[in-house]
Amino acid sequence: PRDRYVVGLIGEGITASLTPAMHETEARALGLGYEYRIFDLLELGRPAEDVGALLSDAQSAGFAAMNITHPCKQLVLDLVDELDTDAAHLRAVNLVVFDAGRLRGYNTDWLGYRDGLIAGLPDASFQRVVQIGCGGAGAATAYALLSERAERLDLFDADPRRADELAARMRSRFPTQVITTLAPDQLAPAIAAASGIVHATPMGMLHHPGVAFDLDLLRQEAWVSDVVYRPLETELIREAARRGHPVLDGGRMAVGQACASLQIITGIQPDRDRMQRHFRGL
Ligand code: NAD
Repeated sequence: PRDRYVVGLIGEGITASLTPAMHETEARALGLGYEYRIFDLLELGRPAEDVGALLSDAQSAGFAAMNITHPCKQLVLDLVDELDTDAAHLRAVNLVVFDAGRLRGYNTDWLGYRDGLIAGLPDASFQRVVQIGCGGAGAATAYALLSERAERLDLFDADPRRADELAARMRSRFPTQVITTLAPDQLAPAIAAASGIVHATPMGMLHHPGVAFDLDLLRQEAWVSDVVYRPLETELIREAARRGHPVLDGGRMAVGQACASLQIITGIQPDRDRMQRHFRGL
């Protein structure tokens, strides 16, 4: 452990991020000296390709680590000295730790989703999960579901190439589980047969209102999980909860990601429930 940690976040449009508050508040509760700074590429007027230069500057300045977000998570893959196995499979790095002159790359998005899923939906059946949306967040949720031994995962995306590409990568990592892609006309019957649904598109955010699928299709016992966390209570989560389905909002993943990052950076186990309560009060 260090006497004092300085950590940052590199990405675009991140000035209102809740991550600094999550890290600093929990670190203070753990008795750690900890400062979390934002490096917004748009505000700095720098292109995504400058992420390598920003990492070098942070390393020279004695930073302990850097979180990485859109649009730099793939660029960083080639910049680290050591890549965690899961991050390599996900082809995305959202945490770089500076360790004795070496850069280690991790992915805590999938860990955050997995831990939130276990805590928030402890009785969830993973017999057949349908996932809508196969972008960055969807890669992390698919990886977490399959790591938790989802028996069957059906992937759907409005852009079929996204679903095909994610399915191919997940099959090579999880060869014994059933991973399929759904054509548009296969989506409704798959939802009607699913034990759980993961929503991983931007729908439900302020500028993308609505729900990505018809809730009438759901089996009564089906659980519903949303990755969107601004707002925390999306139309999907509100309506699914009203109908009595077990729900998991996107806040669990957001907190889980921060909690896993804080643990890797400091080597100390944060109090996830305390972080969750704090986040929900922000
Ligand atoms: P992305 O652009 O990488 O992926 C979104 C995918 O959804 C795309 O492949 C797109 O084709 C697909 N899509 C869009 N509308 C669709 C629809 N109606 N039906 C089917 N597919 C559709 O975006 P992303 O980075 O994966 O982010 C998605 C959402 O997840 C955002 O709201 C983001 O804020 C949220 N997110 C949450 C967390 C968290 O910690 N909770 C982490 C990352 C992202």
